[in-house]
Amino acid sequence: MIQNTRIRKLNGADRRENGSYVLYWMQEAQRTRSNAALEMAIRGANKHGLPVVVCFGLMDGYPEANARHYAFMLEGLSDCAKNLETRGIAFVVRRGLPVDVAIGMAQDAAAVICDRSYMPLQTGWRKRLAREAGCTVVQVETEVVVPVDVVSGKSEYAARTIRPKIQRVWDEYLVPLDETRPEASADGIDLAGDIDVSDPAAALAALDLDWSVRPATRFRGGEIEARRRLDHFVDVVLDGYAGARNEPSAAQTSFLSPYLHFGHISPVDMVLAAHDADAGSSDDRGSFIEELVVRRELSMNYVAFEPKFDTYDALPDWARKTLEQHAGDEREYVYSAEELEACNTHDAHWNDAMREMVHTGFMHNYMRMYWAKKILEWSATPQQAYVTTLALNNKYFLDGRDPNSYANVAWCYGLHDRAWTERPVFGKIRYMNANGLNRKFDMNAYTEFVDRLVEKERR
Ligand SMILES: Cc1cc2nc3c(=O)[nH]c(=O)nc-3n(C[C@H](O)[C@H](O)[C@H](O)COP(=O)(O)OP(=O)(O)OC[C@H]3O[C@@H](n4cnc5c(N)ncnc54)[C@H](O)[C@@H]3O)c2cc1C
Repeated sequence: MIQNTRIRKLNGADRRENGSYVLYWMQEAQRTRSNAALEMAIRGANKHGLPVVVCFGLMDGYPEANARHYAFMLEGLSDCAKNLETRGIAFVVRRGLPVDVAIGMAQDAAAVICDRSYMPLQTGWRKRLAREAGCTVVQVETEVVVPVDVVSGKSEYAARTIRPKIQRVWDEYLVPLDETRPEASADGIDLAGDIDVSDPAAALAALDLDWSVRPATRFRGGEIEARRRLDHFVDVVLDGYAGARNEPSAAQTSFLSPYLHFGHISPVDMVLAAHDADAGSSDDRGSFIEELVVRRELSMNYVAFEPKFDTYDALPDWARKTLEQHAGDEREYVYSAEELEACNTHDAHWNDAMREMVHTGFMHNYMRMYWAKKILEWSATPQQAYVTTLALNNKYFLDGRDPNSYANVAWCYGLHDRAWTERPVFGKIRYMNANGLNRKFDMNAYTEFVDRLVEKERR
C-alpha cells in the first residue's frame, strides 16, 4: 500500500500521450526493494501498458562528496542494476547533473516519478524537473516512516514535541509495501547509459573525484549488504540494545546509518523487522525505534522547515546568547581544523574517535557527541567550532551530508536540547568530559577496537 499522503503531484502537466515509458528518476532512494516511488512507477506503467525505465544522473564533484562516498554509492547502484534487470526494468545511468539527466529522459516519458529529498539543492532540482519535463511529475516520499508534512507544519522544538505527533499516526505507515510485477518489458527500448555500474571499481576510477578521502572497506554499499546487516541486527544485536547502545566498544547498534543516507534500505522495513524480531525486549525495540523514527525524522523536520539549517545562525536564541557571553573565556587548548584532522590532540579518547572517523567513515554515536563537544571547547570561537565540526562530519562520515548531520551537529550546540548548569566556554550548553567516559565505559576496549579497525583499513 502506498499512502496518499506520500504522493504529491509537482506540476499541472498531463500524461504525454505518445510517451514510450514511465520514468522513475532515482535519486534519494537508491534501492529496488520497499521503494514506494519505484512501486508507483510500476503501477502507473502497468495501467497504461508501458514499460518502466529507471534513470540515475551521476555527477562528478557533488558538493562535499569524495571518493569514499562515491565508492559506497556505486556499490549500491550496482545492486540496483542487477535487481532491476531481473525484474525487466531498464536502468540507465548517465554522467551529468542529475536533474539534466532526468529532464533529458523525461522528453520521451508518459509520466515521471521522483522520490523526495529535504535538502535545498535537491528540492530545487525537483522544481526544475516539474517545469521542464513536459509531462506529469509526481513525487513519492519514501525515505521516512511518516511524511514530514503529515507530522508537522513547522520546525519542531524538541524530540518531546515531535514524538506524540509521529506516534499518533505511525501505525498507518508501518505496513509492508507489496511489489508489483512490471507487465511490459523494457527489452525493446534502446536507451544508452554512459556509465557501467556493474563494475563499481571501474566506474569509480572513471569519474573525476576528490580522492583526499579514500574508500573504507568497513562498509560495503548496497541493498544486499544493508539487508544482511538488518537481519544480523534483529537476530543477534537487538537483544540488549537499550542497555548497550551507548557503549563505544560494544558494536551493539545496527550500523545502518550509511545505508539509510544513500537510500539502500527503507526505514519502514527496519521498524517492521524490529517489531517482528524474536530477540530483544520491548525496551530494546522501543529504544531502537525512538532513534530510527523520532530522532531521525526530527532531523528531517529541522532541514525541511529551518531555512538556515546548515549555519550557526539557526541555533536557538538562548544557545547563541549563552555561547556569545562566554566567547571571551580562556580556552585551555585551541586546535585548528588541520590539527584536529591529524588525530593528535592531548586527549587520547578524542583521538581514537577521530581515527575511527578518518579511517573507517563512521563513529559510534556516544563518541560523536563527545567529539563535537570537544571541538566546541578547543576552538577559538563557537562559530568557528560549528563550521569545523560540520565540515569534518560531512567530509569523513559515510552518513554525512544528511539531515541527521545538520540536526545532530546543531544538537551539540543546543538545538532540540535545554539549558544546563552554566560553565566556562560552554555557557549553558550541555557539557561532556573524559571522566564521564572513563566512569561509564570500557575505554581501553574502545582503543583496541579502533586499533583493529584502522589496522584492517591499512592492509
Ligand atoms: C555530533 C553528531 C554528529 C552526527 N552526525 C550524523 C550524520 O552525519 N549522519 C547520521 O546519519 N547520523 C549522525 N549522527 C547521529 C547518530 O550518531 C548516528 O545516526 C548513529 O550513530 C548511526 O549508527 P547506527 O546506524 O548504528 O545507529 P542505531 O543506534 O542502530 O540507530 C538506528 C538509526 O537511528 C538513527 N539514529 C540513531 N541515533 C540518532 C540520533 N542521535 N539522531 C538521529 N537519528 C539517530 C540513525 O538513522 C540510525 O541508523 C550524529 C550524532 C552526533 C552527536
